[in-house]
Amino acid sequence: QANERESLYLVSEFANTYFQKILHKTDQGKSIGLSYFKERGFTEESIRKFDLGYSLDEWQAFTDEALKQGYKLEFLEKTGLTIVKDDKRFDRFKGRVMFPIKSMSGRVLGFGGRILTSDKKAAKYVNSPESDIYHKSNVLYGIFHAKQTIAKEDNCYIVEGYTDVIQFHQTGITNVVSSSGTALTSEQIRLINRLTKNITVLFDGDAAGMRASLRGIDLILEQGMNVKVCTFPEGEDPDSFAKQNTLEELASYLQQNAKDFIQFKASILFEESKNDPIKKADTVRDIVNSISKIPDRIKKEIYIQECARIMDISEDVLFSTLAQINKKEF
Ligand code: ATP
Ligand code: MN
Ligand code: MN
Ligand code: MN
Repeated sequence: QANERESLYLVSEFANTYFQKILHKTDQGKSIGLSYFKERGFTEESIRKFDLGYSLDEWQAFTDEALKQGYKLEFLEKTGLTIVKDDKRFDRFKGRVMFPIKSMSGRVLGFGGRILTSDKKAAKYVNSPESDIYHKSNVLYGIFHAKQTIAKEDNCYIVEGYTDVIQFHQTGITNVVSSSGTALTSEQIRLINRLTKNITVLFDGDAAGMRASLRGIDLILEQGMNVKVCTFPEGEDPDSFAKQNTLEELASYLQQNAKDFIQFKASILFEESKNDPIKKADTVRDIVNSISKIPDRIKKEIYIQECARIMDISEDVLFSTLAQINKKEF
């Protein structure tokens, strides 16, 4: 269905232009959307570079305009930009600042929209639904603007959110993409794997999120890539941290705080379980399980030695645990 996909691309491109026009050219866009971005510390240059926009706080302003311009309701609905209920039509994005999500080659696939009020009932971010052109698990926010520097720097930073990507660019670090708040997938990692073998995962400074993400990182090891992780001070995320620091400060923070993933995981698991033998047994299996994903045998062996030291346990136990895991898998 190449034709239909093309229609979805065209509708999305139209929406991208429309939301930017609303942001820059209407009173509501300027007084609400643009001032929100400015207050967050985004420069005009960043706002333009990332095609940031605004959706009017009206029920069907976008849909009406798109239909008027000749875009078919069928495709508006298939991109999720319009929600059709009985004979009524609603804009999916209403009164939100808009972040277009682009493919590796720069085509608009979908949108994330952030609410501006601190209304506890509404979701902070609304995203486009899956469509024939937008497959959430195959997309990394920011990859179009990052691909060249990822290859050049031979490293890719992965952050949680849209705003982290933009603030890093503004500060001067451009080899950065976001998984948009969801667990990393193998497809997303493969996109990066084409550009570099080195990934640094940056966690928001809230322990809960980090703990949940640790498991997903095994998928990166499975592809034979090198992984570092870096945390930020409590309550900070890459966006807020970058905003308060110069490029030199940010770069040196990353340099000093990025830790090898296996060593990092081994040390936090050790801290959590050192006084609890039963828990320790679980954590040993957990870390060896991560090591078992590494394709390179020499690296595997080095990590076993390293973890034995960090977790204060004999290498023999770790090697036999590894053998057990391997047996189960074949
Ligand atoms: P902000 O600084 O504007 O609050 P953030 O990026 O720091 O945004 P987080 O709460 O850290 O927001 O979430 C990280 C990412 O997860 C977001 O950028 C967004 O892509 C996604 N996300 C967060 N909340 C939701 C939600 N309610 N629905 C869908 N996606 C969400
Ligand atoms: Mn977060
Ligand atoms: Mn965040
Ligand atoms: Mn944030």
